[in-house]
Amino acid sequence: MNKKIVIFIFLILYNFLIANDSVNHIQLTPKEDKFLKETKIKVIISDKWAPISIKNDEKEVVGIAIDFWNLIKERANINSEIKNSEDWNLLLNSIKNKENDITISTSYDKNKLSYAIFTDPYISFPIAFATLFNKRFIPDASFLENKKVAVGDNFSAYNILKEHYPKINFVIVKNTKEALELLSAGKVDAAVDILPSLAHLISVNGYYNLKIAGTSKYEVPISFMIRKDYKLLQSIINKYIAQLSQEDKNNIIKQWLVVKFDKSSQSYKYIIQISLVILILLIILFYFFKQKDLKRYNKELKKLAITDTLTELHNRRKLDELLNKIKNKKFSLILLDIDHFKEINDTYGHLEGDKVLITISKLLKENLNKNDEIGRWGGEEFLIICKNTTEKEASIISLRLKNIIENHDFKIRKITASFGVSEAKKNLDIKDILSNADIALYKAKELGRNQVVLGSSL
Ligand code: GH3
Ligand code: MG
Ligand code: MG
Repeated sequence: MNKKIVIFIFLILYNFLIANDSVNHIQLTPKEDKFLKETKIKVIISDKWAPISIKNDEKEVVGIAIDFWNLIKERANINSEIKNSEDWNLLLNSIKNKENDITISTSYDKNKLSYAIFTDPYISFPIAFATLFNKRFIPDASFLENKKVAVGDNFSAYNILKEHYPKINFVIVKNTKEALELLSAGKVDAAVDILPSLAHLISVNGYYNLKIAGTSKYEVPISFMIRKDYKLLQSIINKYIAQLSQEDKNNIIKQWLVVKFDKSSQSYKYIIQISLVILILLIILFYFFKQKDLKRYNKELKKLAITDTLTELHNRRKLDELLNKIKNKKFSLILLDIDHFKEINDTYGHLEGDKVLITISKLLKENLNKNDEIGRWGGEEFLIICKNTTEKEASIISLRLKNIIENHDFKIRKITASFGVSEAKKNLDIKDILSNADIALYKAKELGRNQVVLGSSL
């Protein structure tokens, strides 16, 4: 084998082994080593930057920065104690006067270099834009120029954007939650912060009318900030930050970018409430329409039950019901029978006979008033109940109907009808009154048809 090739393979293997080795074993200088062994590091954290560092329901400070700190602390074997500060300025002061040594979630700021130093960024996040849900995608921050954009005072997103996009009309607020409140109320066009903060606050506070509409090409790098004289701590941490793998970063980030609905959180309760309201509304709507359908269906059934299908007049059942209701009141009955109807059927056929029945029904309906109830008593016989009507008045009505039928052009031939009229009397029940009308009708037939006979005349 060629000597050059052997050396080449050896070099590749050697590099591979050394490179791999250096991932697992970070070389600290003796000074760094000594510093770590002898120093207890005092960590001060702020809990106001969701989800970088934030208090959870158990009042512990958690978040992306805490997870990165814990990972590096463990790998570097750093002896530390952690404290929480409610106030960002007090936190900065405590680094300034060396009361505390390090804070874990800041981004590089040259104004702080007089009292602090920064590690390399361990992660960086794009600046993102939130808008109302119905607004369009924002591909770049230049689309926000001349628009009202709410941003937390002195937030990194603000400092970066104002430098590159001076034409944006910034509305300065206390923090991103306030920015989202203004946005949700339609008072500004957008709110900006780093992507995980916007996503977290939108979901946790239940701003269902908001969305992330896009991100800027500018990112906010997140670093540890260390008291100025602790250069050794800076160099140690930088070595561990340099060795963070993409997998390390992904494992931490993915936990905080997923929208979590913790059972005790506001958003979870909100979603449950909204879902319940929607469900109840759907059930009510469903039953409302079912009820309406049922009502319509029942109305239809009821109508069918009391209507004669051929003539669409009241049927015998409805007439009986109406007669039952009207007893003891003042009324007259008209019983009408078509003359020689059998002949019509026999001469022109049953269908023509039906047409005659329909036409006569129409003539009756058109020429009686609403007060009168008209029904098909059977075959070619009709009963008219005239409420609050005397026999005399009913006979006038009957004569009018007789003339109308007689003079109607039925196309096939002249058609006439006979009428028996009777009035309700105190001592008579429905059967008797009907019987009187029937006798009068029979008399009309006897007398030659096409005439009106009154029950009282018999
Ligand atoms: P009159 O003048 O004495 O009343 O003679 P008429 O032929 O009218 O009397 P009749 O009672 O002898 O005949 C009635 C006919 O009516 C018999 C029956 O076939 C017919 N009819 C009954 N119901 C219907 C119907 O729904 N359609 C048709 N086309 N005919 C019917
Ligand atoms: Mg007849
Ligand atoms: Mg008859």
